[in-house]
Amino acid sequence: MKSLTLTSSSRSGDRTPGMPPAHGRCTLVGAGPGDPELLTIKALKAIQSATVLLVDDLVGDEIVAMAAPGARVIHVGKRGGCKSTPQSFIERLMIMAVREGEHVVRLKGGDPFIFGRGGEEVEHLAQAGIHVEVVNGITAGLAGLTSLGVPLTHRTHAQGVVFVTGHAKPGSPGPDWRTLAATAHSARLTLVIYMGVSSAGSIQDELLSGLPPETPIVVVQNASLPSQRHAVGTLATLRHTIADNGLCSPSIIVVGDVLRGLAAASSPAHVALEKAA
Ligand code: SAH
Repeated sequence: MKSLTLTSSSRSGDRTPGMPPAHGRCTLVGAGPGDPELLTIKALKAIQSATVLLVDDLVGDEIVAMAAPGARVIHVGKRGGCKSTPQSFIERLMIMAVREGEHVVRLKGGDPFIFGRGGEEVEHLAQAGIHVEVVNGITAGLAGLTSLGVPLTHRTHAQGVVFVTGHAKPGSPGPDWRTLAATAHSARLTLVIYMGVSSAGSIQDELLSGLPPETPIVVVQNASLPSQRHAVGTLATLRHTIADNGLCSPSIIVVGDVLRGLAAASSPAHVALEKAA
């Protein structure tokens, strides 16, 4: 296989005169929340036919091992305590590899179009004249609750669901939590917060402006993996629930009345009754 090196002539992602046309192809693949069995068949086929894989942090080794023996695997996340590869560099690498005739698979955790910067990559490759095929993956917010046997919607408790980030792009305002809280309360929506653990305290304070303190919450870490852990609480206890249980990234925070059953089953009285039975 050809080695991939960024040369000065290949540093521009733009379609400039004299640039070779794209002969390879690019597939943006969602690897799901972690459990390899949650990969779609389409994702598996793409991984197996890739000649170059650019892999994000949240994708486990078991999934990467499904690649063909000669495929070149490039980790572009923050593994080993290193800084993650700049987004622009990743995109240039993808463009260059496609121009060299490779089948580039960009492997991302969960779904590539849910907080995965997949949209930015598709746009930038399109500007370079490269069409990207996108393969959905199961997003962490979906897998996290499902693993606890809890639905995201429920005819009695939740008429819809909001996937929202707790970590805005630097320089841009984050979500309007107060409006979200008021809307979630009046429209009976489940809130699924990604990347929210480090700012959970301020999210809690803002959400309490529009949602009752007793609204159930759950924090699910490493959803779908053998290392999965979760803790149940209420909106009034969110920051303590996280701290007391030592929960950290990657975790999703779910807020809403769909969790009532789970919260009741986790209450000390219920647990004591189960132990006595
Ligand atoms: N595209 C991904 C989300 C990427 S943003 C998806 O669709 O799932 C990264 C955030 O996703 C993490 O900070 C965490 O909030 C969430 N996340 C990803 N994998 C997770 C997992 N296995 N368990 C819990 N949360 C997860």
